Amino acid sequence: MKSFVSVAALLSAALAQSTFEPSDFNVTEALLKNGVDCTSLKIIFGNDQVETRSESSYTSFVNAFWSNQQREIKPECIFKPEKALDVSTAVLISRLTDCPFAAKSGGHSPVPGGSNINGGITISFEKMNSLAISSDKKVLSFQPGHTWLSVYTFAEKQGVAVNGGRVSTVGVGGLTLGGGISYTSSANGLACDNVVSFEVVTASGIIINVSETQYADLYWALRGGGNNFGLVTKFNLEAFPLGQVWGGQRIYTQEAMPALIDAYFNLGQQEEDPKAHQILSFAFSAPNVALAIVELEYVAPVANATVMAEYNAINSPTIADTTGIKTLARLTTGLDESGASSPGRQLFITWSTKLDKDLATITKDIFYEELPTISDAAGLVPALSLQVLTKSLLQKTKKRGGNPLGLDPASGPLMNCLIAFSWTNKADDSRIHKFAERVRSRSVAAATAKGKSYPYLYMNYAAPWQNPIESYGSANKARLLNIAQKYDPTEVFQQLQPGYFKLQGAPMPMP
Ligand SMILES: Cc1cc2nc3c(=O)[nH]c(=O)nc-3n(C[C@H](O)[C@H](O)[C@H](O)COP(=O)(O)OP(=O)(O)OC[C@H]3O[C@@H](n4cnc5c(N)ncnc54)[C@H](O)[C@@H]3O)c2cc1C
Repeated sequence: MKSFVSVAALLSAALAQSTFEPSDFNVTEALLKNGVDCTSLKIIFGNDQVETRSESSYTSFVNAFWSNQQREIKPECIFKPEKALDVSTAVLISRLTDCPFAAKSGGHSPVPGGSNINGGITISFEKMNSLAISSDKKVLSFQPGHTWLSVYTFAEKQGVAVNGGRVSTVGVGGLTLGGGISYTSSANGLACDNVVSFEVVTASGIIINVSETQYADLYWALRGGGNNFGLVTKFNLEAFPLGQVWGGQRIYTQEAMPALIDAYFNLGQQEEDPKAHQILSFAFSAPNVALAIVELEYVAPVANATVMAEYNAINSPTIADTTGIKTLARLTTGLDESGASSPGRQLFITWSTKLDKDLATITKDIFYEELPTISDAAGLVPALSLQVLTKSLLQKTKKRGGNPLGLDPASGPLMNCLIAFSWTNKADDSRIHKFAERVRSRSVAAATAKGKSYPYLYMNYAAPWQNPIESYGSANKARLLNIAQKYDPTEVFQQLQPGYFKLQGAPMPMP
C-alpha cells in the first residue's frame, strides 16, 4: 500500500511538473498568451496616464502634433509617464511585448514617425514637467514635458536664461538632443553643449545620471545623437544671467535682398561680438511676391548695437518691423505669431556650406528659379533660411569634452541652409520633396565648385531621407555605434523605436 502511494505521488509530481510548470517555463510567453500587450499599461497606470483609440483625448492628442504627417499616425496607445520609473516600465513593457514605441516632447519634428508610432506605444512626456533652479542659479533643470516658452518664463523670474529654442511651442527634448541653435549660440554654443547632465532611462530600464564625469561616453553621444541612446527624463542646463534683449523681425521686398545678403555675410563673419544673432529667410507669398525676412537679435537690451549697424543702415522700406526690447519668452512667441507654425503637411531639408556671400546669393537664386515647379501647390508656404554657425559657436561645440557633430572650428564660419515648407495636399508630397532635393543638390554643387562644401547635416532640420549621423564623420559614427552597443546591446532604441534619424541611416526613402 505504502509503495503504491509513493508511486502515485511520484507520477502526479511528474505530471504536475510537465503540465503546470515545465523546467523551461517562459514567463514572458505565458504573459503574452494571456493577452498582455502594450495596452496593458492601462491596467498598471489607469485612465489618466493611458489613452486608447476609442477615447476623445486620444484624438485630441494625435491632432496636436505639429505636422499633418505625424497626425496621420495612429498609435495603439498613448502613455503619459509621471516619473522616470514609469518611463522605465514603458520601455520594459515594450520589450516584453515586442511592441514598438516612439517618444514625444514638443511634437515638432516634421519627420513622419519621429515622435509618434503606428500600432505602438507613443510615450508623451506631457506630465513630466518639473522645473527647478539650483541655489546658486547656475543650473536650470527641466523635464521633457516642457516647451521653451515655459522654460524661459520660469528662468526669467530668476533673472537667468538657458541656451534653448527660438519658437515658444518647440519641445525641449528633440531640440536639445539634436543640437539646438539658440539666440545665444554664438556666445554659448548649441543647446546640447550647455547640458551639464541628463537623467536617462536606458534600454534595460535603468535610470542613470549622465555627465562629463559619469558615463562620459554616453554624455558625449547624447549631445547631438538624437533619440538613439535612451529616453531623457531630465535635462540640467547651464544657466546664465539675462534680463531683456533686443530683437524681432523685419520684412522687405525683393529689392533689399542684395543689401541684406551683404549684411548677413558681414555679421556672420565678425568675431568681436557674440551677442548678435540672425536668420535671413527668403519666402514667397501668393500670387508671386518674393519677400526677405530677417530675424535679428542682440542678446542685451541695446537697440542700436554697433554690430547691427549694416543691417540698421539698409534704407529699403520694411513691410513690417517688430524689433524692439523685450524678454526672451516674448521673442519666442513673436516667431510663432509670424507663421513659423503654419498648419499642414511639413518638410524640412538642410545642408551646410562654408559661409560665402556669392553662395548665399546663388542659393537664394536657385530657390526662386525652382519655385515655379511647385508654386501652384495648395496652401504652399516655403522659406529658405540662411543661418550662420559662427566661429565662436563652433568653438563652443568643443566644451565639456565636445559633441559628436563633427564640427571643425577651423572650417568656420559655416552657412546653415534650411528650407521649411508647409502645404495642404498629400498629392503634392512627391514634387515638393523633389523640389527640396533639387535646390539642395544644386546649391551643394555650386559650393563644391567653389571649394566651399561642408558635409554637416543638422539633425533638427533634416529631411526624413537625409542621414545626419553619417554627416558627423566616420570616426564619430563608429564611436556612436560602439556606445549604443555598450548601453543598448539588443538595439532597443534602433529596432523597437524605429522613428527619426537612426545610427544606421535615414528613417524613410524620398516619397
Ligand atoms: C516652428 C519650429 C521652430 C523651430 N525652431 C528651432 C530653433 O530655434 N532652433 C533649433 O535648433 N531647432 C528648431 N526647430 C527644429 C526642432 O529643433 C526640431 O523640430 C525638434 O525635433 C523639435 O523637438 P520637439 O521636442 O518639439 O519634437 P518631438 O517631435 O517631440 O521630438 C523630436 C525627436 O526627439 C526625440 N525626443 C524628444 N524628447 C526626447 C527625450 N526626452 N528623450 C529621448 N528622445 C526624445 C523624439 O523621440 C523625436 O525622435 C524648430 C522647429 C519648428 C517646427
